[in-house]
Amino acid sequence: MIEIPNQNLIGFQYSAESAHSFQTFNPITQKATPWTFKCATVEEASLATRKAAYAFESFQALTLKERAAFLRAIAIEILALGDFLIDTYCTETGLPAARAMGERGRTIGQLEGFATALENGQFLDPVIDHEDLERSPIPKVDIRKINYPLGPIVVFGASNFPLAYSTAGGDTASALATGCPVIVKGHPMHAATGALVASAILKAAKDTGMPEGVFSNLNSNSYELGQQLVKDPLIKGVGFTGSVAGGTALYQLAQSRSEPIPVFAEMGSVNPIIVLPEALDLGATDWAEAYAASIALGSGQFCTNPGLIFCVEGPETALFISHLKAAFSKISPTVMLHPNIHAAYNKGRGEVAEKAQLLATTQPQELKSENGFGEGAIYEVNATTFAANPSLHLEVFGPMSLVVRCKNIAELIPLIANLEGQLTGTILGTEKAIAAQPVLVNTLKDRVGRIIFNGVPTGVEVCAAMQHGGPFPASSDARFTAVGVHAMKRWLRPISFQNWPQLQLPLALQEGNPLKIWRLVDGSLSLD
Ligand code: NAP
Repeated sequence: MIEIPNQNLIGFQYSAESAHSFQTFNPITQKATPWTFKCATVEEASLATRKAAYAFESFQALTLKERAAFLRAIAIEILALGDFLIDTYCTETGLPAARAMGERGRTIGQLEGFATALENGQFLDPVIDHEDLERSPIPKVDIRKINYPLGPIVVFGASNFPLAYSTAGGDTASALATGCPVIVKGHPMHAATGALVASAILKAAKDTGMPEGVFSNLNSNSYELGQQLVKDPLIKGVGFTGSVAGGTALYQLAQSRSEPIPVFAEMGSVNPIIVLPEALDLGATDWAEAYAASIALGSGQFCTNPGLIFCVEGPETALFISHLKAAFSKISPTVMLHPNIHAAYNKGRGEVAEKAQLLATTQPQELKSENGFGEGAIYEVNATTFAANPSLHLEVFGPMSLVVRCKNIAELIPLIANLEGQLTGTILGTEKAIAAQPVLVNTLKDRVGRIIFNGVPTGVEVCAAMQHGGPFPASSDARFTAVGVHAMKRWLRPISFQNWPQLQLPLALQEGNPLKIWRLVDGSLSLD
C-alpha cells in the first residue's frame, strides 16, 4: 500500500511545522478529497533554498552520466507508483485514466529525452578559439566558452498538467539536467499527485547518490510562499505555467530584486486559426470535426486550445461553420479541473457573450454547470466588432472559441497584426493559397512561436525542433522554449575561459576532447 506523504519535502527530510493546511478537490464529486497538506512555513521554505544552494556545488560537478542516471531513475520510480499514481491524478483532476497515462508517458519520455541530451553534451555548447601568437598587430589569446547552470530554480506546478508540467515535469527535468537544484512550489489543486511524484524523486536521488537539497517539494494554497521563493537571493531562476496575471506578477517581482533573475513564464494564448476559402478543397467536414474536438479536448484546458477562428466570407466558409456547429453540438461536456478555473471560464465566457452571438454549445443536458461541467461554446462576431473590442482577443481558458468573420484578406490582416503574442498560429488552406498571401503569412509569423499549415494546435510534439513559447503574453521570453531538449537553455549561462591552464578547464573544453562531443573549434564544428 503506497502512502501519500502530506508533509513538505525539504531535501531528504519531511517537515510539517505549520498550523495551516489545505485539502485538494475532486472535480467529479465536487467535494474535497480525503488528503490534507501542511502549508510550508517561511522557515521551511528558507531551509529548502539553503539546502539547494549548498547542493548546487556538488550537483553541477557530477559527470553527465551521473546526472543522466538520476533522471532515468526518477522515470523508473514514477512508473513504480503504478495505478495508484494514475488513480490519484484522476481523483484530483477529473480527467480520464487514458489522459493520466498519456501524460505519465510524456513525463517519462521527457526525463529520458533530457538524460540522452545530457549524455551527448550538446547543451554545453563548447566553443574553442585557439591562440594565435603570430597574429599582428596583436597576438590572439586562447578563449574557450561553455554553458554553466544558473543555480537553484523554483518551479511552479501547472494546474492543467499535474505530471508533465509540474513536480517532475519539463521545467524540473530540464533544470535538473543542466545541474540546477529545483524547489517545486506545487499547485494546490493536485498536491497528492505532486507528493507522490516528489517521493519518487526522493528515492531516485538517494539511490543514485545525489546531494541532499537537489530537490524539494513545498505545499501551499496562498501566494506568499511562491513570492517568498522568487524573492529569495539564493534562487537564480523561475519556471512558471499558468495565468497571465500570475506569470506577470512573478516576473515583475523577480525584476524588482536587487539581483533580478530570469522568469520563464508560459501564460495565455488564443492560438488563432485562419481558414482560407480554399480550405474546403481539403474537406470542410473533416476540418470542422477536427476543430470541434480540439476546442473541447480536456474541457479546453490546454494552452494550445484554438480560441480564435478567422474565416474569410464565402460559400465554402459558410459550409465550414455549419459543419463546425453540427460537430460541436454532438460533444458531451466534461468537468473542469477546479472551481477557480471553472469560475474564470464562466466569467470569461460571459464577457464574450455580451459582444458576440452564440453559434453552438456542446450537448446541453443534465450535465449541469454547478456540477463542475464546463459547457463548451462557440461564438461569432464580425471583423468590425472584433477590432473594436480588444477584450475579445483574450484567452478564455476552457472549451470555448470565437469565430471572426472577415469580408476579405485585407480586412483580416490588421486583425492578425493587432493580436497579442501567441504560442501558435494555424492556416488552413492549400499550398497555392498560402503562396498567394505572403503578407498574411508574415503577419501571422510575427505574432507566434509555432506556425502550422493544415493541422490543429493541440497535441504538442515533444521533440528538439518544437518551439513552445511565443511573444508576450504567450511567454515572458519568446527566445526560449518550454518543450523539447532546448528547454535546458533557459537554465544556463555561458562562461569564457581566457588563457586558462589546460588541466583546470572543464573536460568539454580540454584539448583531445575527452568527452567526445561536438564542439565549435576555430570556427568549424568538430569531434576531434
Ligand atoms: P494561476 O492562477 O496563474 O496559478 C498558478 C500558480 O501560480 C499557483 O501555484 C499560484 O499560487 C501561483 N500564483 C499565481 N499568481 C500568483 C501571484 N500573484 N503571486 C504568487 N503566486 C502566484 O493558474 P491556475 O491556478 O493554473 O489557473 C488559473 C488560470 O490560469 C486559468 O483560468 C487560465 O486562465 C490560466 N492557465 C493558463 C495555462 C496556459 O498554459 N496558458 C495553464 C494553466 C492555467 P497558489 O498555489 O497560491 O494558487
